[in-house]
Amino acid sequence: MRADIRVCSAWATEHDAPVYTLGGACPECGADAENSAPAPYNPEDPYGEYRRRARRRD
Ligand SMILES: [Zn+2]
Repeated sequence: MRADIRVCSAWATEHDAPVYTLGGACPECGADAENSAPAPYNPEDPYGEYRRRARRRD
């Protein structure tokens, strides 16, 4: 299943963690929300475990 999940474009400066939304703007700070995929390069990849877990269900 594909979901059009977006992420706050300013989360790196406005929030401690990515803020996801299904709308066009961040519900917390009002910044534009952008497509969350492909994910930007992140050496820590805190969401890698989540992605791998989701992929395993295929
Ligand atoms: Zn935000």
